[in-house]
Amino acid sequence: ATPTSIMAGTGRSAENGVLFKGGEHVENTRGVQTIVLDKTGTVTKGEPELTDVEVASDFQEATVLAAVGAVEKNSEHPLAEAMVKGIEGKGIAIDKAEDFEAIPGFGVRAVVGGDEVLVGTRKLMQTSSVTIESAGEEMAAFEKEGKTAMLIAIGGKYAGMIAVADTVKETSKAAIKRMHELGLEVAMLTGDNQQTAEAIGKQVGIDRVIAEVVPEQKAEEIQKIQEQGKKVAMVGDGINDAPALAVADIGMAIGTGTDVAIEAADITLMRGDLHSVADSIQLGTKTIRNVK
Ligand code: ADP
Ligand code: MG
Repeated sequence: ATPTSIMAGTGRSAENGVLFKGGEHVENTRGVQTIVLDKTGTVTKGEPELTDVEVASDFQEATVLAAVGAVEKNSEHPLAEAMVKGIEGKGIAIDKAEDFEAIPGFGVRAVVGGDEVLVGTRKLMQTSSVTIESAGEEMAAFEKEGKTAMLIAIGGKYAGMIAVADTVKETSKAAIKRMHELGLEVAMLTGDNQQTAEAIGKQVGIDRVIAEVVPEQKAEEIQKIQEQGKKVAMVGDGINDAPALAVADIGMAIGTGTDVAIEAADITLMRGDLHSVADSIQLGTKTIRNVK
């Protein structure tokens, strides 16, 4: 494409809220075969809400939630924010925690009132030798509804479960349909549980779900698709997504996302919905076609 046609293309796209970092990226959207979407904050609103609490028979709900709130108050994860808000909303006074530690992709731990409190995935419980018994089945039931369920352990014992749900953006399904019409394969990449991710994926028409990917491995998953000979565009919003955005042939950051993601990307989507993804692919193709 000539510089003028690219300028015209980027100008038109800017009106639509699609900001290319440079003209070369317009051209580069040509031939993209696979779109990889981050789940939380990209396909979904990224504003999870507390939905369910289950407590093991030896424990009391208020005590368990006060401990969970104490730990999660130290975490900056959107899941943590949802739990703290939900617990406070129940009128429960949150305890104080010490020795907080975040284990990216697995959960969090801290000491509350002398007891170690863990909140997170099955793997977190396994690696800490906490037996969850039949709780795994209840957890799976929440996950089939698209909720993210987290297990709670206090003093080395299974104490309960807490579930949050994040809703999909109203526009995600229609935007993914447009991507399909453009001949693109659409995958979703997340650190969340496989079943939760599949339930969300089904709601919006995702072709392929890649779940339970720890933050450091998101970029590797992009490389794997590239090794299959595919040209990949990655769309994300979080700090976690930055390496994957950089590795992808085209990185697209949601404009309301973190600065780190925006810096790593080639395109910023100001509108924050997935129609902009289809727009940018379409625009790149059109700009090229105009000069032929
Ligand atoms: P995503 O890619 O969806 O942002 P993450 O990689 O951040 O997911 O987290 C993966 C999983 O780790 C979560 O689904 C959750 O089970 C667990 N987890 C992460 N942060 C927390 C937290 N603050 N409290 C409890 N569990 C957490
Ligand atoms: Mg995200």
